[in-house]
Amino acid sequence: MSTSTTRTVWPIPGGIYPLDHKQQSLGTAIRQVPLPSQLVIALRQPSHAPAVLCVNVGDHVSKGQCLAQGSDATGLSIHASTSGTVLAITEHAVPNESGLPELCVILQPDGENHWTKLPALADFRNYDAARLISRIAEAGICGLGGGAMPSATKLRAALLNKVHTLVINACECEPFITCDDALMQASADDIVAGIQILLHISAANRCVFAIEDNKPAALNAMRAALTDSGIELVVVPSIYPSGAEKLLIYSLTGSEIATGTLAVEQGFLCFNVSTAHAIARAVVHGEVLVSRITTITGSALVNPGNYCVLLGTPINELLKHAAVDQTKVSSLIHGGSLTGIALTSNNVPVLATSACVIASTAAEIPAAEPEQNCIRCGFCTEVCPVLLLPQQLYWASKSEQLQQATTLNLHDCIECGACSYVCPSHIPLVQYFRATKADIRIAEEKLLMANQSRARFEFHQARKAAEKIQEEQRRATRATLAHQQLEQTATPSLAQAAIAAAMARVKAKKALQDFAAAVDAASNNLTTADSQADNTAAYLPNPDQQDDSR
Ligand code: SF4
Ligand code: SF4
Repeated sequence: MSTSTTRTVWPIPGGIYPLDHKQQSLGTAIRQVPLPSQLVIALRQPSHAPAVLCVNVGDHVSKGQCLAQGSDATGLSIHASTSGTVLAITEHAVPNESGLPELCVILQPDGENHWTKLPALADFRNYDAARLISRIAEAGICGLGGGAMPSATKLRAALLNKVHTLVINACECEPFITCDDALMQASADDIVAGIQILLHISAANRCVFAIEDNKPAALNAMRAALTDSGIELVVVPSIYPSGAEKLLIYSLTGSEIATGTLAVEQGFLCFNVSTAHAIARAVVHGEVLVSRITTITGSALVNPGNYCVLLGTPINELLKHAAVDQTKVSSLIHGGSLTGIALTSNNVPVLATSACVIASTAAEIPAAEPEQNCIRCGFCTEVCPVLLLPQQLYWASKSEQLQQATTLNLHDCIECGACSYVCPSHIPLVQYFRATKADIRIAEEKLLMANQSRARFEFHQARKAAEKIQEEQRRATRATLAHQQLEQTATPSLAQAAIAAAMARVKAKKALQDFAAAVDAASNNLTTADSQADNTAAYLPNPDQQDDSR
């Protein structure tokens, strides 16, 4: 297969053309941020299951040593970004939407930066897919384009679904962000090595490398590196959000990924260009994920640019290194200007997903204006790239009609923010949609818990009913056995009783006869005695006569 940059692509629906603000961070080559005095390494896991710690407070660790591992199949290994001492394992503020702190390892660098690398698998074609996926998991590689999904999890899914097309996403369509652009200019060969590893693992028979037409230097670098690689290079028009996974697949192939399904289920495997680079470093060089390229930009900085940053570096250190003028900072954003999170503190660390930090002035990104009533202009519908009805979703979200929002396919919303961008009433539509998605998720979790509770209760009732039936059966069995025993022993007992009764009757009769005889004898004796007494009395003197004689 030969490389190509000329073929047409399927135009995505909707989309917007915001000012890209990319040039201010592309003026210099990638620079290194010096080692900070402390690193705050977040132990965040994709499934939110707690990480399993591999170190204790006080331990000395080397660069690349595993600090924590995931506790489930989608878990992510987290490593020390440099050598040093574990000062604490505690909750710390991180860049996230909830604003809640997360568990982090606080590491004090020893300045040695002593690496413990994994054995290099430079001849990766000699290893099977399972071995290479195991290496990628061991190295803690996750999606660096913002998804943060563990790459090993994605590749296992690809093997199960037998993918036919590998798509490498180098579009980087959101304003301000240029880290992928800078990486392609600096490390095109490593990126191609990563793509070859992904092709070897997935066994896809086709690979398309997609890049927007606003990156001429990166395009030239990649075109040179991809020559004779068999990988098709396709230049897509610069329009936001062309880099969204499902939109990009449609743009490149005309295939639509159905609602509620994953691209991999339809045979497409999509990787960000920075992730492909990290995979090459892990496999070919044995380096686990401890750093990334981050765009540090905005008009409040003297030295905006792309920096190689250790994961866990506090963002205030980045801003200091880029010579921030605090008096000019109007807003501090983690991520791009359309999908990023406004930071309320710069004491948060760089994460694997930290593609960009913007320290903007008020002129560059004006403060949000007060929300006004919807005027039903329909602009939001025109720009929605997934053909939703943002205005109706807004009403459903505002009135908390979760079922209605679901019916309007809220879950298809990719949260690109294009609708918010064009809304003349300054309605923060995407924020409504995110909040409603969270409410739906909570309601579904509650429903799931209620269903589980009901199932447990019904199981308990069924078990009690079964136990009652078993007890009744046991009681009936015992009664039958007792009755049978009684029948077996009843005849001898009655016979014995009859004999005993007969003997008793004989004894009683004899006793009665003896008694009668005794009575007769006594009566005779009494008669005899009376007769003798009468006879004796006839010979005795008269007492009255005796007293008269004195
Ligand atoms: S763009 Fe704003 S004002 Fe216009 S219909 Fe959509 S929500 Fe309403
Ligand atoms: S944020 Fe959602 S609803 Fe708005 S344009 Fe993007 S995909 Fe459409």
